[in-house]
Amino acid sequence: MYRQRTGARFEHRELESQRVKDSLSLAARFGKLKSLTVDLSFYDPEGTSKTSQVKYTVNLANAKSVFRFNCPNGECIRGDFDLTDELAKAVAAKRTTVSGEKTCEGWRSKTTIDTVHCANILRYKLTLAY
Ligand SMILES: [Zn+2]
Repeated sequence: MYRQRTGARFEHRELESQRVKDSLSLAARFGKLKSLTVDLSFYDPEGTSKTSQVKYTVNLANAKSVFRFNCPNGECIRGDFDLTDELAKAVAAKRTTVSGEKTCEGWRSKTTIDTVHCANILRYKLTLAY
């Protein structure tokens, strides 16, 4: 029996979602963190056109401390954005705002594995309170 939902992209997402599921909640890992708001803007690889933006207050009791966001490229292989370290460093230093940029390190599609990176850009801003 052939299963549709297989392949590199699906396996990667499965492993990553398991890693997220197995991690502590933000509230459990960062006891002193009282609120967290994320402002995420996704850009194309040139960084000029914004493809989407999302801003919300994170539910610390439910959100996991492996803090990652799916790449908006529906064909992306082994990419996505992981802000786990950025968040941990921000909390450790008691920063109240952190912003930066990350580039998706996945492949643009399954036909460009080992040749063309996805390279979508995430510009993020975290607002923290303690
Ligand atoms: Zn990507």
